[in-house]
Amino acid sequence: MRVLYPGSFDPLTRGHLDLIERGCVLFGEVVVAVLSNPGKTPTFSLEKRIEQIKDSTQHLHAIEVISFDGLTVTCAKENKVDLILRGLRAMSDFEYELQIAHTNRSLASDVETIFLATEAHHSFLSSSLVKEVARFGGQIEHMVPQPVAKDLKRYFNNQ
Ligand code: ADP
Repeated sequence: MRVLYPGSFDPLTRGHLDLIERGCVLFGEVVVAVLSNPGKTPTFSLEKRIEQIKDSTQHLHAIEVISFDGLTVTCAKENKVDLILRGLRAMSDFEYELQIAHTNRSLASDVETIFLATEAHHSFLSSSLVKEVARFGGQIEHMVPQPVAKDLKRYFNNQ
């Protein structure tokens, strides 16, 4: 079974990686869909975010990394995936995620969303928090995979 894991991944955290790894075990194959979102300026370019994910998932074989810029359900259909995977960190994620899941089902009733609860020790992690820590020179190695830590340090040193 293939599952679509969509997100901004700006950048990938160890929480995202944990979800990808568990997705591979549970479903067989994970298609990580990186949002290009032309309306927003991300910290890392689409190409860089894709490279970071590929470099951080070399130990996984059943994974594909793609980009998308439209509706998630359209992306799911184009890639022949009927299942969208999302992570839940806390109640604050739940309300927003539920709204998105209902919206997606109203657009495509054959595409289901499935949620995995985040590992407790990753539940505080978010891409924006990691960037704040990196900006002020804090330790980030336990928060992001090694290729991302390297890029974050280079990015904030050059700013
Ligand atoms: P988006 O902009 O779509 O929220 P993110 O890159 O922030 O994209 O997150 C993508 C998915 O990963 C979401 O389902 C989010 O709930 C989940 N996620 C974010 N942080 C973590 C984490 N620390 N552990 C597990 N899942 C996470």
